Amino acid sequence: MDGRETIYYPQDEMNQMLIPVTSGCPYNRCAFCSMYKGVPYRQIPLSEVEKQIIYGDLYTERIFLTGADPVAIGFDAMQHVLALVRKHLPYCACVASYASVRSLAVYSTEELSALHDAGLRLLYIGFESGLDRVLESVDKGHRVETAIEQAKKLNQARLQFNTILIYGIAGLGSGIENAVASAAMVNQFETRKVITMNLKVFNGTILEQRVHRGEFFPADGAERLAEIRTLLEYLDPARPLEFDTTHPTNMIKIRGTLPQDKDRLIREVQQHAQQMS
Ligand code: SF4
Repeated sequence: MDGRETIYYPQDEMNQMLIPVTSGCPYNRCAFCSMYKGVPYRQIPLSEVEKQIIYGDLYTERIFLTGADPVAIGFDAMQHVLALVRKHLPYCACVASYASVRSLAVYSTEELSALHDAGLRLLYIGFESGLDRVLESVDKGHRVETAIEQAKKLNQARLQFNTILIYGIAGLGSGIENAVASAAMVNQFETRKVITMNLKVFNGTILEQRVHRGEFFPADGAERLAEIRTLLEYLDPARPLEFDTTHPTNMIKIRGTLPQDKDRLIREVQQHAQQMS
């Protein structure tokens, strides 16, 4: 792995042991993403992964596998990585990782269940939006129907996951529609947490070119707050889920459990909107 490459991980995992499994992104096409531009994709050899794991404290309880989409390495290699963790770090109770809808689609429910039993306990998945036309416009590489199918497979396999959504991604005037559709998507499966991110137009992305060409108009702050509020209003989880807007990109930092904290969270969004106006 190139020592100059930036390592990305969710803020919930910042204090965990990080084990690189892949470098770069196997897809690298999302119009809003600048994370792995210019970084060639490669799988880290399992011998190197093992060396990293061996360096770990024997009493490590939690590991985060780094890379844009470590599950893209396939079932056999994932099993191998998890077996290495079990062999060298026997007290590790949770291995977590990013995963894409595209890569998960290759796995059977039985394979996902086997990975769960081997120690993979939490995935972070970029669903981004519940609208097909938005997913298509940012070239996300999956459709809503496929995303729901993979989520239901994970539920059957008892493999927990966090759902990442991006507000502002639908552009000016479409935030409410996006929130309603994204909530309708999430309401169809069980997820541990909804993590929101705020769309940023990063330098060097296809999205930035579209903004410069006048093809994409970013939503303003008021619309983005209305989008968060609408998402909260329409989320109706079968089981309690955490709602978390504390990722650094967000314009408001709130956290709570749905459904019981729904009114409080909506109030906090409204208060923020009033302060802005
Ligand atoms: S958003 Fe994820 S899948 Fe898309 S290009 Fe970036 S790292 Fe790759």
